[in-house]
Amino acid sequence: MPLKLGDEHEQDPKACLACGNVLDRAGEIKQDVATELEGNPPTPDEYTICFNCGHIMAFDEELHFRELTEKEIFEVASNSEIQKMKRMVIKFRDEMSMLKPLANNSNP
Ligand SMILES: [Zn+2]
Repeated sequence: MPLKLGDEHEQDPKACLACGNVLDRAGEIKQDVATELEGNPPTPDEYTICFNCGHIMAFDEELHFRELTEKEIFEVASNSEIQKMKRMVIKFRDEMSMLKPLANNSNP
């Protein structure tokens, strides 16, 4: 089943574990289109991707970001849909940084 980037949801601001960019909206990686259409909020163990650096994380029990487990890293690395999404995010970021060169001075 193809993975899709789900709807964005308001969430408490959380800093990306990789770049420290504060994300106040989560773009979820959904495996189930029906779930996506319902617009459910993030759930524990769901993957999420940082829109600033493309770092892939997961939500913990309290919906804070956590690093992936070794098993999840393997799963993500071998999932071409997630890798494609990561490239899309990085491309999007690059395009945004070209539009706003002064706004993007964080150092991943
Ligand atoms: Zn990041």
